[in-house]
Amino acid sequence: TDQYQGKLVLVVGLAKSGYAAARLLHMLGATVIVNDGKSIDDNPQAQELMEQGVEVICGSHPLSLLDRPLDFIIKNPGIPYSNELLVEAEKKNIPILTEIELAYQISEADIIAITGSNGKTTTTTLITEMLKNSGRTPQIAGNIGVVACEVAEQATMDDIIVMELSSFQLMGTDEFRPTISVLLNLFDAHLDYHGSKQNYVAAKARIQAKQEESDYLVYNASDDLVKDIAEKSHATKIGFSTTEVLPDGLDVVDGFVRYRSKPIIATSDIMLPGSHNIENILGAIGASILAGATLTQIQFVLKTFGGVEHRLQFVKELNGRLVYNDSKATNILATSKALEAFDKPVILLAGGLDRGNSFDSLIPSLQGVKAVITYGETKDRIAETVRKTDIPTLELVSTLTEAVKVAYRESTEGDVLLLSPACASWDQYKTFEERGHAFIQAISELPK
Ligand code: ADP
Repeated sequence: TDQYQGKLVLVVGLAKSGYAAARLLHMLGATVIVNDGKSIDDNPQAQELMEQGVEVICGSHPLSLLDRPLDFIIKNPGIPYSNELLVEAEKKNIPILTEIELAYQISEADIIAITGSNGKTTTTTLITEMLKNSGRTPQIAGNIGVVACEVAEQATMDDIIVMELSSFQLMGTDEFRPTISVLLNLFDAHLDYHGSKQNYVAAKARIQAKQEESDYLVYNASDDLVKDIAEKSHATKIGFSTTEVLPDGLDVVDGFVRYRSKPIIATSDIMLPGSHNIENILGAIGASILAGATLTQIQFVLKTFGGVEHRLQFVKELNGRLVYNDSKATNILATSKALEAFDKPVILLAGGLDRGNSFDSLIPSLQGVKAVITYGETKDRIAETVRKTDIPTLELVSTLTEAVKVAYRESTEGDVLLLSPACASWDQYKTFEERGHAFIQAISELPK
């Protein structure tokens, strides 16, 4: 790849991905200028780049950076396009890319790309697991916390990159053309982040925009917005649906998941709970079969994979109770999905950061819930909602650890103990991961 030789590139926003992109472009012979809002003093990565001979401008985003004849800008997905520097760059028609485009350009390995409003991490992880023992080594990358261009730099033709992509990452792509793309769903709930529905849908659509007939698009045929995108795609299309019969795609008929009308596995043999996960599973099976996964490996993964950490993750069986950690459920919709996944009595632990919203839209999903233990800032607000139902027991406590103790006390054999907070974690924890770990810790401290 000598295409970057002699190019002048501005990298805006360091963090992990900006650092990787700057280092890589510098190594490939480009002249790199790095610009980060943080001051140089608390920016060890900027200092390191400077030592490597990269020009670094820290502390602000001066517009004079655009006076130089830039070939393109690599921006961190977290920096909004409303940033003045980027607004001005757009006016000057300087291409604004993310390191995902760079990863694509330098990759020797084929790429499977996954996007959607929900289910990305689960599906990406499933595909990676299913491609083990397939002859090519799956390399997970992207939004899942692994910088894509770093993975692409190392990957050879014997690998296959399985890349989770957010809409922000996709917005900054140009020639990006995955061999297989997976489009899971497009929910209105996410539209506000992008200013307009059109922008959001257009960003997601970029996953297949450059695909040709020799590439594949695996898509949710029961999602109208996704279907619209698929209809215009040049890729070879494989639809999936949990509600419609799709003889040429992936569907669920008579209790079996099928690929092109051939049974793959009985739904009763699948370990992951929840109908939403069946959608993720269909997408994952489609992509991994197209990429060469074996049926044995696919079946093995589906029988044994208990979920990604903090996403309706099966923790353990405790004296006949099944414990699940769904700390990632930071809104009501996610908690509803979690509750719908169980046909056993559920003891729900919910609560967290108070955004002032009511929890009444949770009511329809509370059927089958045996008790709700609320904690954190929203404990009274959630309790208010639960009082509108006939759910018998209800405890308001301040911490998750207390909530776990109460939940266990209220439970009997055969119950599900579920942390699915319906709130962000920031009232008591730094991240939802930290909250999930605190839950698991509290569970492990219960008397045996
Ligand atoms: P993402 O990476 O897109 O955030 P995850 O796989 O981490 O998605 O799942 C996050 C949460 O989104 C899950 O805990 C679940 O509540 C919900 N979810 C997952 N898959 C789906 C789906 N296919 N449809 C609707 N909701 C889903």
